[in-house]
Amino acid sequence: MSFATLGLSPALLRAVRVQGYHAPTAIQTEAIPAILDGHDVLGLAQTGSGKTAAYALPLLQHVYRHRLQSREQGQAGPRLPLVVVVVPTRELAVQVGETFEGLVQILRETGDAPMSLKVTLAFGGVSINPQLMALRGGSDIVVATPGRLLDLLAHRGLSLADVGCLVLDEADRLLDLGFSEEMQRVLEALPEHRQNLFFSATFAKPVEALAQALLQAPVRIEI
Ligand code: AMP
Repeated sequence: MSFATLGLSPALLRAVRVQGYHAPTAIQTEAIPAILDGHDVLGLAQTGSGKTAAYALPLLQHVYRHRLQSREQGQAGPRLPLVVVVVPTRELAVQVGETFEGLVQILRETGDAPMSLKVTLAFGGVSINPQLMALRGGSDIVVATPGRLLDLLAHRGLSLADVGCLVLDEADRLLDLGFSEEMQRVLEALPEHRQNLFFSATFAKPVEALAQALLQAPVRIEI
């Protein structure tokens, strides 16, 4: 298998090469075309499967296109996030943020980025003020833990009005850590019409119930 047939733009294909990825992993092979086509995805995959790049690559393509279009149409106004990735822990937030930022940086360095994109991290256990400040300057992709995401909404430091894609990463751990109620409140704060990507290493009943409540006709990928 090769990245070239998955539907990624030439710019992202170059970024993938610079990143040192020679061939897509199994989940990337299946998830990238499905996500680019706008489908909801249910991915049953472990850490180490390459699941982060499986959603980061197509979502970056989507976000660049969307921002480019807005610019061409002369749309002004604040840059509200288009993608929200909800993760159970600060560690995963940092890891996911690094994957997005690494690709954004490569695109910038190769001169392939049509504009700079901003990835904002938001997790608890640290002061909320720097996160509020970071969001004030506009953001394209937010990676957050559920509690802090709700805090930011309560502070009116974040608007989810433009979010077109929600990613739940390690959904089983989100539930194990007791984030069920927070997740419901996050879902209520999101626009109804959106793409949903749901990743979990395990698929016990509560995880299945959350997936069912969230996903519409998902492409199911089991690695
Ligand atoms: P993840 O499952 O998202 O935590 O990724 C596990 C590791 O695999 C990360 O260090 C990635 O940089 C790396 N990785 C992801 N996709 C590929 C690929 N296609 N080829 C080689 N390494 C990859």
